[in-house]
Amino acid sequence: MDKKIDLKHLNVKAFARDGMRAQGVQSLAHFDRLSELAWSGGGADNPAPQVSWSLTGEMVPVTGGDAEIWLHLSAEVSLPMQCQRCMGPVLVEVFSDQSFRFVADEATAEAQDDESDEDLLVLSPELDVWELIEDELIMSAPIVPKHEVCPATVTMSVADAAFEEALEAKPNPFAALAQLKQKPQ
Ligand SMILES: [Zn+2]
Repeated sequence: MDKKIDLKHLNVKAFARDGMRAQGVQSLAHFDRLSELAWSGGGADNPAPQVSWSLTGEMVPVTGGDAEIWLHLSAEVSLPMQCQRCMGPVLVEVFSDQSFRFVADEATAEAQDDESDEDLLVLSPELDVWELIEDELIMSAPIVPKHEVCPATVTMSVADAAFEEALEAKPNPFAALAQLKQKPQ
C-alpha cells in the first residue's frame, strides 16, 4: 500500500484492482481554473485556501462479466468568492462527493449514461486526478455566490440590539443619583 501514486498519471485500473485509497491536502493555487472563481478583491481573511480530497478505488464484481472499475472521489474547499448581492467577500464551502465508473469506450458511456447515477468515464491508461478534482469542485461551486444574510445588515442590527441592551441594563449613574436626591425625605 506504500506504492508511490502519481495523481497526474493515475493508473486507474491498478488503483481499483488493489482497492487503494489516497488522500491529501493541496493548496488552491495548484488549481488554475478553480482559482479563477476565487475572490481576488483583497482581504486577508483566508489567505491560502486548501483543497482536501480523498480517492478510493474499487472493483465491483459482475455476474457473468468483467468486474467494473470504480473510483470514489470526494473533495472540498472553503472558497472565498464575491457575494453577488452586496459585492463583498463570502466564504463558500464547496463540496463534491462523486463516484465514477470506467467503461471501455465513448459509445458505451453514451449508451449507459441515462440509466446511471454515477458518472461514466472512458478508461484510459492514465487519469489526471488533479483535473478531475478541479472539474468536480468547479461544477459544485455556486454560479451566483451569496451570503445567506449579507454582513452589512447583520452587523447593523446586532450593534443596535447590543446598544439598546446596554442602555437598559446600565442606567446612567448620575441620573440614578439625581433620582435619589429628588426623593422626598
Ligand atoms: Zn453579501
